[in-house]
Amino acid sequence: MSARHANISVFVPHIGCKNRCSFCDQVTISGSSGVPTANDIKKAVALAESSKNYDPKNTELAFFGGSFTAIKAEYRRSLLKVGAEFVKNGTVRGIRVSTRPDAISADILSELSAYGVTSVELGAQSMDDRVLKLNRRGHTAADVRNAAQRIKAANLELGLQMMTGLYGDTDDGALKTAADLAALSPETVRIYPTIVLRDTYLFALYEKGVYKPQTVESAVALCAELLKIFHRENIRVIRLGLHDVDQTKVAAGPWHPAFGELCESRLYLNLALAQLKNLPRGRYDIFVSPAAVSKTVGQHRQNLETLSAAGYDCCVKISKALPPYHLEISSHQSEKRKERNHAFKVD
Ligand code: SF4
Repeated sequence: MSARHANISVFVPHIGCKNRCSFCDQVTISGSSGVPTANDIKKAVALAESSKNYDPKNTELAFFGGSFTAIKAEYRRSLLKVGAEFVKNGTVRGIRVSTRPDAISADILSELSAYGVTSVELGAQSMDDRVLKLNRRGHTAADVRNAAQRIKAANLELGLQMMTGLYGDTDDGALKTAADLAALSPETVRIYPTIVLRDTYLFALYEKGVYKPQTVESAVALCAELLKIFHRENIRVIRLGLHDVDQTKVAAGPWHPAFGELCESRLYLNLALAQLKNLPRGRYDIFVSPAAVSKTVGQHRQNLETLSAAGYDCCVKISKALPPYHLEISSHQSEKRKERNHAFKVD
């Protein structure tokens, strides 16, 4: 999936779910309560196509929300049939679906391939059976492994989704889940910190004081470590944190409108601190790729202030030679002495 990738998202709330997970209210998460029809899909595609930046080669039709492969076969095929026509006439490059790990079989995968599905995302959430059970997921870690292997064997792109701050989970548990998921070699990963939505089992646990959600700070700190695990394995993290949700439904938890940016920014801070800790206090230049400048500086210059409080006065500069998630640190140079390809200063 390139940086310009786009999804035309169609939400299929809950209808394929055999149970209700502790944290889930798909209507709130997706902002959609109705069951989509073939006509709804056509309208969504027409709307996307009318955008001046529409690029069919980088756009997928995405059935998200409920457990797509577990919905009734006749209805599922009616949606796939419309999608397949758009794939065939080149309006979209393929179809993505998200589903439960225990709703993948050889027959289902053949069907998906036949209709032009290119990617399957599994809601794994945790690789700890105890945590899965506590959160009423209704599947096991073994189901995740089996489904992931089948999806890869069917030559479909594999996406995996995990959560942090689940009821009964710990930071170490989430790190272990990330390592287990990375070992399945997915092409993409989404990471969602658990948000307490009203009218869920988790909300009842929260009200009783049994469940304590993560804070934004604790979720950011953990997710920056999870990012490191996936980047190390060259696995793309395509989402960090829930999209906009109806805030009247959010009772507690680490929801933040720029959660992903905060995590990426923390990752760059951690990378800088790891290198600086071996250097004497003083003035330094931090070189990063062009896209990483604002993340390295941090929201409201927070990273630079943290570094300064630790005794390191830093300027962030561009090095076009550096790939994302890499930085180089050298003693601060005046503008006159700066190297040719380190062309821009942001301090
Ligand atoms: S399987 Fe997915 S969509 Fe269904 S209740 Fe659980 S989290 Fe929600």
